[in-house]
Formats: sequence, structure tokens, C-alpha cells
Amino acid sequence: PQVIFSGIQPTGVPHLGNYLGALRQWAKLQNEAAPDTTLLYSIVDLHAITIKQDPAQLRQWRKEMLASLLAVGLDPKRSIIFYQSSVPAHSELMWILSCNASMGYLSRMTQWKSKLSLPDNASPLDPGPTSKAALKLGLFSYPVLQASDILIHRATHVPVGDDQSQHLEFAREVANGFNHLFSRSSKTHILPPPETILSPAKRVMSLTQPTKKMSKSDQDVKSRILITDSREEIFKKVKSALTDSIEGVSYDPSTRPGVSNLVEIMYYMDESVADSPKALTQDLRELSMRALKELVADTINVHIRDVRERYQGVMYGGGNGNSLGEIGEEGAGRARESAGRTMGIVREAMGLD
Ligand code: ATP
Ligand code: MG
Repeated sequence: PQVIFSGIQPTGVPHLGNYLGALRQWAKLQNEAAPDTTLLYSIVDLHAITIKQDPAQLRQWRKEMLASLLAVGLDPKRSIIFYQSSVPAHSELMWILSCNASMGYLSRMTQWKSKLSLPDNASPLDPGPTSKAALKLGLFSYPVLQASDILIHRATHVPVGDDQSQHLEFAREVANGFNHLFSRSSKTHILPPPETILSPAKRVMSLTQPTKKMSKSDQDVKSRILITDSREEIFKKVKSALTDSIEGVSYDPSTRPGVSNLVEIMYYMDESVADSPKALTQDLRELSMRALKELVADTINVHIRDVRERYQGVMYGGGNGNSLGEIGEEGAGRARESAGRTMGIVREAMGLD
């Protein structure tokens, strides 16, 4: 049977990139899963603290993220929804895996460099004078924790956006390395190497810097549309999106990144409108930039409205159903069981039992 795992950091309310690249896919997988498929979705708070976090802010963001996951349609009765830090085995397995994780491989990962605005060739032992903050061990070894998040549940499939492909490749490497060291036969995997599932909208770009991906942690709030944004906020942000002065609408991400990003967002919000982003521009080619932006903003608003309303209901509705606290507790219990089973197998294989 399949085991699907994925995670999202509580570093702010999810944006359209998170939604189209990950969360919408999570809900779809849940709704279409075979009855014996296990689904685990984690709010990965231990990843969030690789960057300095204010405790009150983090507490609020954890709660908002749980509300967001419910708002996009995850059902806590079907999917195991939990905070990473409530399942200590994630960290325990990380230590075990880090004993065999290659520093060389980790140095080639791009995330620690981009979070510190370092060049691609930066070295962990000498991150250079441009480094805004000293490179911390946790930020550097983050992919090992991510591998552990996946492998601790023996996940077979991991739905993520394109920016995580590299980390998934690393997770497979870690699993294979562990199996090679500790499996009794080459046919049985103690830790199955997970497959990546990329959603079609795998990389939504920033509205203000369309050559960068949309991110929760971008300083500029106008760079992203949140799943909770009102109609007015959506229109304002799309209106101020960076485009170009070429006449008409066409799709070419390399020469027209801003316009192409808007077209992609519109297409992926509602794939029934055309066969591809490029085909969509056939119908839009004579529009002015202003008209395109209005159409895009309206499409976003229409398709995100239900999510926004459910979010308000979960966060402020009160009354009906279990509280967020209870949902988190119940998910943690089920995730601990799943993780405990794997730790049993891992301990036995390594002689730690
Ligand atoms: P942060 O800036 O704090 O890293 P983030 O926006 O990158 O936040 P994550 O919590 O790191 O979000 O990632 C959650 C999921 O969303 C991952 O599967 C990631 O691949 C996906 N994702 C993030 N940004 C985008 C994007 N712009 N387009 C498509 N998918 C995305
Ligand atoms: Mg990220």
C-alpha cells in the first residue's frame, strides 16, 4: 500500500505557490486515494526554526497553518495531520541518518545558500563576508531532517513543488545508503526510497520579482497572494505585479517572466479554460495589461473564495467540530504510532534494540 507524506513550514499563511504546487495536490491525493493508502501531512515547525523565529509569532503561525490545511480540504479523519515537533522520532531518526549523511552532498544543496543570499559556489566552511548571518548547523543539515520526516513514516510518495526536488533526491540517497548498510538482503528495503510527485504548477513565481519563486518568507508582502486574501487584496496585488511594456499577451517565461507567471496562475487556477498556458494566451493575446490583470485577479478570487471562507470559519467560527488543539493532538498520536513502528525496525537493524 502507498504511504503519502508531505510537509509545510509554519512561516506564514500559505500563498498561491503553496496552494497550486502542494496543498491542492495534497487534498486531491487524499480524495482519490485507495482505502488502504496512508496519508500524512505535517506542519514542519522544526524546519521553521532553522531561521530565527519569535515564539509568539511561531505559535500563531502554527495555528494558522493547521487552519489553512483544513481550509484547503484536508480531512483529519482521513489524513494524519500533525505538528512535526510533537513526534520526537523525526528528530531521533535524523541523528541516526546524519551519522551517514555526506557533508559534500549537503554543501551542494542550494537552500542554505539562498536563505543566506550566498552565491551557488559558497562553501559551508567559509560562507564568505556577504553572509547576512553566520551559517548555522541546523540550516545546513536541514535536508537530513527532511529525509527523516519522510523515511520515519516509510513514505512511498511525496508531493512537493519543484524547489524540493533536490531534497527528495537527497532523501532517496540517504534511504539507499541506510539500506545498503543495514538491510539483510538487497531485496528488502528497511527504508523505502520515496518517489517525488510534482504537481503541474510546480513553480509559481513572485509577483514583484518574477524570476524568483513565490515564498512565504519573502520580505515583500506584495510578492505573494495568500489563500486568505480578500478580493480587494487580490486585485491590488495583481495590479501591482511586475510585467513589461510589450504590447499584447503572449507566453514565454524566459523573455516575459511576469506576464507568463500571471498566465500560468490563471491557467492552473482553472485548467478548464484551455489546454495549456500557451493555448490560453491565444484567447488573451489582444488584451491590454490592465485587462489581463483584472481577468487574472478575478479568476484567482473566484477559485480561492471557498478556501478563504473555510479558513475564516475554522479560525474564528468556533463551536462546531473539534478544536484545532484537539485535531493536532489526535494527529500527533497517530503519527507517533507510525513513526514508532519504523523506529522499531531501524533499532533492530542497527543493534540499538
Ligand atoms: P519559506 O519561504 O518559509 O521556505 P515556502 O513558500 O517556500 O516558505 P515551504 O513551507 O518551504 O513554503 O514549502 C511548502 C510546499 O510548497 C513545498 O512542497 C514547496 O515545494 C511548495 N512551494 C513553495 N513555494 C512554491 C512555489 N512558488 N511554487 C510551487 N510550489 C511551491
Ligand atoms: Mg520553502
